Amino acid sequence: MKRVGHYIDGTQTLGSSDRAGPIFDPATGEQTGEVVFGSAADVDAAVASAAAAFPQWRDVPLSRRSEILFTMRDLVRGHAKQIAEAITSENGKVLSDAEGEVLRGLENLEFACGIPSLIKGEHSEQVAHGIDVHSARYPLGVVAGITPFNFPAMVPLWMFANAIACGNCFVLKPSEKTPSASMLLADLWQQAGLPAGVFNVVHGDREAVDRLLTHPLVAAVSFVGSTPVARHVYATAAGSGKRVQALGGAKNHMIVLPDADLDMAADAAVSAGYGASGERCMAVSVVTAVGNVADRLVDAIAARLDKVKVGAGIDPGSEMGPLVTREHRDRVAAYLDVAAAQGAVVVADGRDLVTADGGFFLGPCLVDHVRSDMPIYQDEVFGPVLSVVRVPRYDDAVQLVNENRYGNGVAIFTRDGGAASSFQHRVNVGMIGINVPIPVPVAAYSFGGWKDSLFGDLHMYGPDGIRFYTQGKVVTTRWPDPATSSVDLGFPRTR
Ligand code: NAD
Repeated sequence: MKRVGHYIDGTQTLGSSDRAGPIFDPATGEQTGEVVFGSAADVDAAVASAAAAFPQWRDVPLSRRSEILFTMRDLVRGHAKQIAEAITSENGKVLSDAEGEVLRGLENLEFACGIPSLIKGEHSEQVAHGIDVHSARYPLGVVAGITPFNFPAMVPLWMFANAIACGNCFVLKPSEKTPSASMLLADLWQQAGLPAGVFNVVHGDREAVDRLLTHPLVAAVSFVGSTPVARHVYATAAGSGKRVQALGGAKNHMIVLPDADLDMAADAAVSAGYGASGERCMAVSVVTAVGNVADRLVDAIAARLDKVKVGAGIDPGSEMGPLVTREHRDRVAAYLDVAAAQGAVVVADGRDLVTADGGFFLGPCLVDHVRSDMPIYQDEVFGPVLSVVRVPRYDDAVQLVNENRYGNGVAIFTRDGGAASSFQHRVNVGMIGINVPIPVPVAAYSFGGWKDSLFGDLHMYGPDGIRFYTQGKVVTTRWPDPATSSVDLGFPRTR
């Protein structure tokens, strides 16, 4: 069985703790390895290494940083298949989807390669008589990233590409369920020429996380995961004086207006609802059928579900893999019992799926006549379950979205530009798709939700990523003729 250790100060180490957790292959249900759980001392060692590397890394010229990033970009591209295989073996998602994740993560390295332009300050001449002003951005120091199981490569890349480009040193605490991709990335950083200590990986659970959240030398924390943990991370790290961005869970609605192209909407609902078995924070979870579209839409979605090929992620014929753990699969399945007992109609029941192997499989589930007071609607289910909520009017759909406690993503399917335009203005959600079911912004924009989907001020990656990982200075300059100098106790005036 494999044993996954930490990566601290440019070296792989098993650390000082005797705690460890199991790694499963979700397609077979078998344990394939274990990952060591970092102690507070292991976190301290990683932070000390990052802090020691910071003074040199901060001063590495932008052109050299950019060169290392370009090399890393090529290495990740060249190892995309290998990283994807590691993801599939621990997360369960199908290989093509895992490769897609690596490629979307790669965009963030490509963005960060432009660091000489991204980190530019501003300059104004003659803001007052003989006085010029310029601004510059500086790295924060040691920054930490805590990441979820569902994107073992992409979410770390959202964080560390910009953090390192800006001159910070990074400590990553990946999900203990999917630890291997981060170790491959650490190895590639080393090959790319990144100095030891600039990138570290400490595995583990709450013990390691809580040490990062309170460590006096950690200046900022980026978190992506579930809302209860995001809330804890935000409160603890902010309470320790750190800069924090903590992205939480989601409940993404897809509104289908009566004028939408029904086949296109059904294709989109199935793709976005069941891709990665619904274990995406931008997965569509609630189809909101407006007016008379509901019956035809439910039929069109149901007709597509019979054809979805569920199987091991490593099998090229599979379109949808298993869920990440047995407990999670059972938790997701339990929502169907409750929903049915409360009056919802289970149109497609993935619990009926029979597979030869003992993996954590659940087939696609479609639940119609869901009401907004049901747990299946209120909670983030995070599985291959599409709920259909029927509403009579467009305004009811907007109200439903706005009353939901999450505000990560939302999509509207319509041919009416006016309705779409009003929708994007009125919904209290961070990422909106118009006839686009999974509106994950490209790396030149920033990613983030509203309400319980994000705690903090700045969104992740893109321009907000550069702002998050830097702090500003403003320099006011004057080169006066000493002969004109005099004492003046008045407040400096600009005119
Ligand atoms: P999770 O919250 O259980 O774990 C995330 C990270 O926090 C992991 O590294 C884990 O080890 C750590 N952690 C777990 N419990 C902790 C605790 N009590 N104290 C301190 N640290 C703890 O999330 P997950 O199950 O790995 O991932 C799925 C969740 O992530 C879903 O809710 C999903 O919506 C969310 N997610 C959100 C986004 C986004 O961008 N908003 C993206 C991907 C995933």
